[in-house]
Amino acid sequence: MKKGKKLYEGKAKIIYATADKNLVIQYFKDDATAFNNLKKSKIEGKGVLNNRISEHILTNLGQIGIKNHLVKRLNMREQIIKLVEIIPIEFIIRNVATGSITKRLGIEDGTVLKEPLLEYCLKDDNLGDPLIAEEHILAFDWASKHELEKVKKMILRINDFMIGMFRGVGIKLIDFKVEFGRIKINGKSEVILADEISPDTCRLWDSITDKKLDKDRFRKDLGDLIPAYTEVAKRLGIFHEYSNVSAVNVTRLRSVKKKKKIREYQKLLHLKNMF
Ligand code: 5GP
Repeated sequence: MKKGKKLYEGKAKIIYATADKNLVIQYFKDDATAFNNLKKSKIEGKGVLNNRISEHILTNLGQIGIKNHLVKRLNMREQIIKLVEIIPIEFIIRNVATGSITKRLGIEDGTVLKEPLLEYCLKDDNLGDPLIAEEHILAFDWASKHELEKVKKMILRINDFMIGMFRGVGIKLIDFKVEFGRIKINGKSEVILADEISPDTCRLWDSITDKKLDKDRFRKDLGDLIPAYTEVAKRLGIFHEYSNVSAVNVTRLRSVKKKKKIREYQKLLHLKNMF
């Protein structure tokens, strides 16, 4: 499919027109930004990994009935997606408290939440994506009550599915951000999942060591972002050519209980490598 003119350039992606007015091309850049664009860098290969990981997750979500914008991946950096009208809200789901919520509310980092917590932020870089309430969304017509109810249901299913998917490969899904868009299906406006789901938009911790396998490696200057994203891709079975996944460094953990957990985990990785 031929790439037309650039329609929009964001911090991590570019959207191009195509000959079909309902479809656009989403290009994944290598740019990394944090703290509302104050910290910027180019990390070679990040776009390629996010393209593959997001394709994998959205395809799987599609298979359990979560309608989304992905049509197909075109190449290493591009996917064809349905053109949607983005709802200007970042929907954030937290299973474990870390990041902004710990600073905002003084909650201890790593606190496991009784149930998933949904937060809304207005998508506005100039305002620093402020936290808003459902009442704001309705008061300013950023989304209708009906749309919000549908989105909430989808988010809970997405969270349940992703917790299980990541748990199966030794990763804890700490939190993530998703975006939704409106599209006309048979003349009726529907809300579908849009944007991307990748280590740029999720917090992913190794189940045993709590090693960060996400964009916090960039935000917190931890380094090794590409090896971490590659580890996520490998564990999800995306890069079959690198199937000899080795367990992460666990030598610092000493308790008997932890050692048992490590052995179970290593067995799991070994099993996975056999396929
Ligand atoms: P926090 O509010 O703790 O900074 O982020 C919560 C979750 O939402 C994290 O998984 C983070 O990656 C994701 N998130 C929040 N805002 C953004 C954003 O503007 N861009 C991206 N890529 N992720 C975001």
